[in-house]
Amino acid sequence: MKCPSCETKESKVLESRSTDDCERIRRRRECYSCGKRFTTFEMIENTPISIVKKDGSREFFERKKVFDGLLKACQKRPVPISYLDETAKDIENKLQNMFEREIDSSIIGEMAMQALRNKDEVAYVRFASVYRQFKDVKEFLKELENVIENYNKSN
Ligand SMILES: [Zn+2]
Repeated sequence: MKCPSCETKESKVLESRSTDDCERIRRRRECYSCGKRFTTFEMIENTPISIVKKDGSREFFERKKVFDGLLKACQKRPVPISYLDETAKDIENKLQNMFEREIDSSIIGEMAMQALRNKDEVAYVRFASVYRQFKDVKEFLKELENVIENYNKSN
């Protein structure tokens, strides 16, 4: 926050309090350089992230949807719910740290697949088959081959 009279960037915060509507923070500041006092209002940024789907339509990101997708893929598999919960939270954090208003749905899909691939091959293939919407059996088998190859490498 630049001082309005001398443009020095550093100032001391004398007092912070939220506005009556509780949506902004009002700060009394004092310039380190010239001592002038001024007031700033800071907004809390809470903009929802829009997800751009394959067909170009958009919807707001919801962590629950990611969790539900993971849960479906992990039905009857030995993957703890807590892992799915953490994965969904982790994906949300990563998206927020990208500081983009709009994010392609494929990025989320890839993150989710990565998380499942590391945990359970069957769940991974299930998720990938829904998510990638394989055009035909051949394509699906190709993906399976990749999984088997990776599996052999790591075991
Ligand atoms: Zn100043």
